[in-house]
Amino acid sequence: MRYQIITVGSELTLGLSVDTNAAFISKTLGKHGFTCVRHVSVPDKIDLIAEAIRESLAQADGVIITGGLGPTIDDLTRDAISQALGRELEYQERLAQIIEERYGNRAIPLPEITYRQAYLPKGAEAIDPTIGSAPGIIISEDERFLFSLPGVPREMADMLEKNIVPWLETKFCSGVAHAVRVLRTTAKSEASLQESIEDLVRSLRNVDVGILAYPGEIQLQLLAKGANMDEAKAIVGSAETLLSERLGNIVYGYDDETLEEVIGKLLLKHALSLAVAESCTGGLVGKKLTDIAGSSEYFRGGIIAYNNDAKKSLLNVSSQTLVRHGAVSAATSLAMAFGVRDRFSADVGLAITCIAGPDGGTEEKPVGLVYIALSHQVTNYSNRFVFFGSRDTVRIKSANAALDMLRYYILDNFERAGGDAS
Ligand code: ATP
Ligand code: MG
Repeated sequence: MRYQIITVGSELTLGLSVDTNAAFISKTLGKHGFTCVRHVSVPDKIDLIAEAIRESLAQADGVIITGGLGPTIDDLTRDAISQALGRELEYQERLAQIIEERYGNRAIPLPEITYRQAYLPKGAEAIDPTIGSAPGIIISEDERFLFSLPGVPREMADMLEKNIVPWLETKFCSGVAHAVRVLRTTAKSEASLQESIEDLVRSLRNVDVGILAYPGEIQLQLLAKGANMDEAKAIVGSAETLLSERLGNIVYGYDDETLEEVIGKLLLKHALSLAVAESCTGGLVGKKLTDIAGSSEYFRGGIIAYNNDAKKSLLNVSSQTLVRHGAVSAATSLAMAFGVRDRFSADVGLAITCIAGPDGGTEEKPVGLVYIALSHQVTNYSNRFVFFGSRDTVRIKSANAALDMLRYYILDNFERAGGDAS
């Protein structure tokens, strides 16, 4: 089944707001084996919405629309569907009652425009709202389908998961179930990851393998097909085992697990406390660590020491080190890691110093040059990286590399060592 997505809203086409609905729908339905073949955004203009609907229905098995279902005059999706399909809008008393209940207070008459949401194109089925007030719309015509969902992401996601996924599975998936597993890795590149698993991937039956690259992280997505959910899960499970064994420790987690979550578990397990000293990442590592509830159990705190004076006064980095080696150097990173560990009386100190760009690079010290150091008892070491990308990308990659260095340190010294295919 191939479908298209139309997101409605002038704020989207004017670039004032980012379309997250289309990405969410594609990702969610992708896990069930449904392929989106086009995303399109249109402004709140009835003719443009209707034209997009006609195009999508001519090109694909169905269309999912989000936005423009509210009660105000710029909410035009209902009228556009009516125009595109030649189905008149009909008042539904039952929907009017639900809408009144959703607004919660029958004592005060609702503004008349609220009742615009009680109209449905002829022959359409309503999806009753459970979070917001706008009903969704389902139309099935000539083997094609149209779903229209509210624009508010939370309302859209609720109807997608509770109503649309089951509808599509009943219609298109009898006898087929899909199971998804994501392997999250800190592989150095998509190419190196692909090379190390190519033969295994070719040997897999009924499993699609996708490689997705994000700054500082590469994911392997496994989508398995089976006659029922148990079978699909068993197929994806054996593919996961094969690939995980081959890849070893570069796989840091699965599905929605984040690197900072994994680090938190490792630090807790081995009763290690951590402090971080950050220069160019400006607190990003501290932010990631504190994204995890309960991180105060192992994360003592951090220092953003951006200029040399702060590195000297807050982290005890000597003037001599800074003058002789520079702020972005192995020696400075080591002194920062030692300094922050000492300052917070933590077991482990982690420090990052880099040239995030876009300016400030030299031939000897290019933009993207990063030193990350780790200090623990008698161990003190620093790794050098050069990352490509914008200032923000360099910072994200640096933060992830620092967390990964810590992960490897704990795995190598506190857990049984595994393989590494990177
Ligand atoms: P409402 O009942 O709130 O009016 P609606 O179906 O009419 O719902 P819109 O008015 O189009 O939806 O959008 C409501 C809000 O939802 C917008 O202000 C915007 O913040 C958010 N939104 C709409 N479309 C998207 C989208 N594609 N991606 C992310 N957010 C969106
Ligand atoms: Mg609206």
